[in-house]
Amino acid sequence: MIAPSQLSAPSATIAADTAADVDWQAVVVGAGPAGAATAWRLAAQGVRTLLIDRHAFPRAKVCGCCLSSRAVRELELLAPDALPAAAVRLDAVRLAHRGRWARISLPAGRVVSRDLLDGHLVGHAISAGCHWLPGVHVSAVADDAHEQTARVTCSGDAATTGRGPHALRAGFVILAAGLADHVRITNGSASGAEPARHIATESRIGVGGILPADACDLPDGELVMAVGRAGYCGLVRLEDGRIDVAAAFDRAAIARSTAPGQAIAALLADAGASACPLPDTDAVLAAAFRVTPPLTRHAPLVAGAARRILRVGDAAGYVEPFTGEGIGWAMTAARILSGALVAPLGLRSPAEAAHHYHAAHTRVFGRLHARCSLVAAGLRRPAVVAAAITAARALPLAARMVAPVVIGSESRRASACAS
Ligand SMILES: Cc1cc2nc3c(=O)[nH]c(=O)nc-3n(C[C@H](O)[C@H](O)[C@H](O)COP(=O)(O)OP(=O)(O)OC[C@H]3O[C@@H](n4cnc5c(N)ncnc54)[C@H](O)[C@@H]3O)c2cc1C
Repeated sequence: MIAPSQLSAPSATIAADTAADVDWQAVVVGAGPAGAATAWRLAAQGVRTLLIDRHAFPRAKVCGCCLSSRAVRELELLAPDALPAAAVRLDAVRLAHRGRWARISLPAGRVVSRDLLDGHLVGHAISAGCHWLPGVHVSAVADDAHEQTARVTCSGDAATTGRGPHALRAGFVILAAGLADHVRITNGSASGAEPARHIATESRIGVGGILPADACDLPDGELVMAVGRAGYCGLVRLEDGRIDVAAAFDRAAIARSTAPGQAIAALLADAGASACPLPDTDAVLAAAFRVTPPLTRHAPLVAGAARRILRVGDAAGYVEPFTGEGIGWAMTAARILSGALVAPLGLRSPAEAAHHYHAAHTRVFGRLHARCSLVAAGLRRPAVVAAAITAARALPLAARMVAPVVIGSESRRASACAS
């Protein structure tokens, strides 16, 4: 057994050409929280599992790095040490808009960088018996009802040898490729590729980056949430002192900016509250930011002629950040999916597994999605945000209701203090 603490940047446990000779019971594409948690759970139940990511770890990921109480609970369900020990307590959110702000205390959240969290989860999955193949891009999955297994086509340096790109055989293929899921699915028929994702026309896009520790006086354990006309932006100090910046923007606002950093600086100035510890413009303009594909989307949970392809996490759907979904949801979906795949006597048939997964996912996430969409709509309305700040400053009870919504905490015991 390998101690997970030694594996925050785990290296491959198998070569691509060796992996191509194995009959995998499950191939998991994407090693974010959804994929790593699914692979971990499957491997722990004795399922022969391969986890693939197109990147070597650690890799950059646009994310606010705040763990909701749901995410913390999901990690606790996985193992007592699934939450990295270095994670910082998240005690409060400071909501800033049009020069005003309110500070709301929060229960049970944590802050942890994605570098640390994602590598840590992959390390645990490896310890549970899963094989790990980083640096391999999955371009297509073919699921033909006349074949015994699905066929996963890989590319990238680590996947290509003298024999050309590798194809892997898998009983199930779990697509956990996040917002960047461009895996082409074919079902073996003449009708060609299956329809993939639907992206909402009003979808915002994500922007994220890391600032140096001295970029502003942000205290540990406090999320600053700056809401402007073009979107909103969260800033939080990571376990190593650096400051994580993550934002959701109207696409037009990014198109108008010369660079994503300029859009962030403009948004912070727009939301600006002098008593909020926001970084100065120079620090923001000097940082490197990454931009995501459009955020608001959904894709079929189950695909393939033989129902062997299942989506989990952001690959299955996403609304907007800071509305209550994210890492916690990805890990809940991973738990539901592994429960649907594995019955007490072994792996279910694809048709049975797909049925169980679809039913459980719809039951758990239907209501949550509706709430998230409402929050996303509220964050686009200045009057709603201003009213939330006024309520948080004046009424602790109202703030207790705002707090779970802002960071997706489900505890109703948030205590509020406005300043
Ligand atoms: C601006 C912003 C802020 C956010 N803030 C928070 C927050 O504070 N808290 C929170 O809980 N959530 C937050 N989220 C949401 C959170 O980041 C995601 O919900 C979460 O990462 C989903 O996990 P996942 O495993 O589904 O996907 P990801 O974490 O995106 O992982 C997908 C993986 O798949 C790999 N991959 C993609 N395509 C391929 C391919 N073809 N072949 C092989 N590998 C592939 C990628 O390299 C990646 O490692 C935020 C999101 C955004 C955009």
